[in-house]
Amino acid sequence: MDTPLSRVLGPKTAKVMAEQLSLHSVRDLLRHYPRRYARRGEMTRLDGLEVGDRVTVLAQVKSVSTRKMQQRRGTLTEVTVGDGAGSMRLVFFNNRHAHLDVGEWGLFAGTVGLWRGDKQFTHPDCHILTGDDDDWARAMVPLYPASKDVSSWVVQKSVKLLLDDAHSLEQLLDDPIPAAVRERHGLVDLATALRQKHRPESQEQVDQADERLKWDEALVLQATLAARRRSAALEPGIARPPRRGGLLDAVDVALPFSLTDGQREVGEELAAELSREQPMNRLLQGEVGSGKTVVALRAMAQVVDAGGQAALLAPTEVLAAQHARSLAAILGPLGRAGELDGDPAGTRVALLTGSQKAAVRREVRAAVADGSAGIVVGTHALLQEGVDFADLGLVVVDEQHRFGVEQRDALRAKGTRPPHVLVMTATPIPRTVAMTVYGDLETSTLRQLPAGRGGVSSSVVPVGEKPAWLDRAWARVREEVAAGRQAYVVCPRIGDLEDGGKGDDGPDDADGAPPPEEKGASDKRPPLAVLDVAEALRAGPLSALRVEVLHGRMPPEEKEARMRAFAAAEIDVLVATTVVEVGVDVPNATVMVVMDADRFGVSQLHQLRGRVARGAHAGLCLLVSEAPSTSPTGQRLAAVASTTDGFELARLDLETRREGDVLGAAQSGRRTTVKLLSLLHDEALIAEARVEATALVEQGRGLADHPELAAAVAALAMDDRATYLEKA
Ligand code: ADP
Ligand code: MG
Repeated sequence: MDTPLSRVLGPKTAKVMAEQLSLHSVRDLLRHYPRRYARRGEMTRLDGLEVGDRVTVLAQVKSVSTRKMQQRRGTLTEVTVGDGAGSMRLVFFNNRHAHLDVGEWGLFAGTVGLWRGDKQFTHPDCHILTGDDDDWARAMVPLYPASKDVSSWVVQKSVKLLLDDAHSLEQLLDDPIPAAVRERHGLVDLATALRQKHRPESQEQVDQADERLKWDEALVLQATLAARRRSAALEPGIARPPRRGGLLDAVDVALPFSLTDGQREVGEELAAELSREQPMNRLLQGEVGSGKTVVALRAMAQVVDAGGQAALLAPTEVLAAQHARSLAAILGPLGRAGELDGDPAGTRVALLTGSQKAAVRREVRAAVADGSAGIVVGTHALLQEGVDFADLGLVVVDEQHRFGVEQRDALRAKGTRPPHVLVMTATPIPRTVAMTVYGDLETSTLRQLPAGRGGVSSSVVPVGEKPAWLDRAWARVREEVAAGRQAYVVCPRIGDLEDGGKGDDGPDDADGAPPPEEKGASDKRPPLAVLDVAEALRAGPLSALRVEVLHGRMPPEEKEARMRAFAAAEIDVLVATTVVEVGVDVPNATVMVVMDADRFGVSQLHQLRGRVARGAHAGLCLLVSEAPSTSPTGQRLAAVASTTDGFELARLDLETRREGDVLGAAQSGRRTTVKLLSLLHDEALIAEARVEATALVEQGRGLADHPELAAAVAALAMDDRATYLEKA
């Protein structure tokens, strides 16, 4: 399978295939599946083609005429081809392809152009199907993703070369799916599947092949994850059982509320897992505001009671600082052990971020290294070299969607023995994603919000169609402030200077961004900016209010101070970038106006509005957009406004993003591995593959009993490394 194509194909073909289609090995080519199939008698709708499309059509030559050109020297050949549904003109200069004969069927590939109102191909690539061509005998002609110099039929012929060599095909193909698994799920073997996919005789054969080839993808992926889980389980960590009369008990006494049932249940689950030597690897999902922080704090306290340290990793400095602040507030003197007013039975909460002064960082690093800081809150700075823990027992990662597996691993490596890991996310994760991207973690869910929450309602403000509604939005802001509440105005960009449209101070994050092919109407102008909008509001509709800005370009102390002032209600309206997206907690804020809402992704909007659903008062989120309400973008916004069911939104998010993006951002190089599998549509298959893979990895000698599958898993790991290297 790893045989280079240059050994099987002509050197020129192999070269362009490598350059233009990234096909290097026999495996690559066999896994380069047809995009669709052309059928004789059932044509691509010639009448449905758009100018500029690059397409291949199967059609019959209807007429050929060659004449001398009048303005220029040379001849012009016009060929009309048709498929019964429509017809199209092909144009050739100077007797190229004048050999086409009326009645012949062929494949014609080119870019659809326009000439005097009619669609035509100029100098298309032609592939005439002749009687002795065995393609012609086929009901379905495979059409492949092609490139400039590698046409669909060059791919087809090359694949055929591989497939026809039946003997070597069986030899080449080590079927990664064990026979018993194939039998249980009624799957054809790999050689059959590839033959049926590339040279099918019926749609049934294609379907059968697809099912089998999807299983390949799912099983290899799941086996990789199962192997990961297993090796993590085999490396013992340190048990951190609860201790009476310690920090955890003190935290429970100090909490100003009683835990929800969900918090209690998950808490027990975590307490039990932390008490074992086998490291915990758990994903905690819970709606925005479901109270994950307290759950994490209790787990951290248990670990501190057992003599270990806990690290809490946050995606932004604002959030890290807020966490440190609220932990310190809950712990009171218990969080200031070693200080004058501290409780010696407690511990120390330390904050470590990249922008702290060198002296502060040095001091914090020392406290982390000697173990006096039991709870360490930080950003990516925690991952850096030079941050050594005395005894790291638990890593909590907040808002996981900003952290990749590499970061998780980097922190994990900071313990002498593998620490327990708790990953928290408010972005609900569809089951398929939980089983793939986060497939090495077990999952817990907090479904219930603490009682007494006002909730949030959302509306779209379509300023393109109803400009007056924007005035109404500002009036609502004024009303809320008059009632003693506060407001956020969120913009996609900071403004001023040359910031390239990026408004966030968080790490790079493609997650949640709208798909590139779906552009809002407002894409014609730059996105609205914090500084401009704040200016306009101060001068206009909100001139009577205290309006301030918050964005990632402000120095950390200033950001900190701004957040504190907002929390203390010294600011009425905070105009901000998505720095307020995750975790910012000001219960008195009840309105959020999102400008250019179409610039944000579904889960981002959901996160954002979570900021105004935190107190007892009902929250309101207004999604301002120029996108027409009937456009896909407008409808996406309407869908976000109409539901707060995180799981439905996650699904919507998945639908509007390309699957590759979801998986591509994940831990493994699914890039080349997942071609047919769909996270939206193959949930049942993925679940079954997960069960099978887990069994294969955990029974007997594990993957050693299944060398073909082991090889595929290893190839995926190689692929990962390749992807990783490319990124580096
Ligand atoms: P998230 O899950 O979004 O991270 P937080 O942990 O920030 O949510 O909690 C949101 C707010 O709810 C905080 O102000 C927190 O103090 C409060 N909270 C958490 N648990 C409870 C509870 N059981 N009862 C009442 N309020 C709670
Ligand atoms: Mg949170």
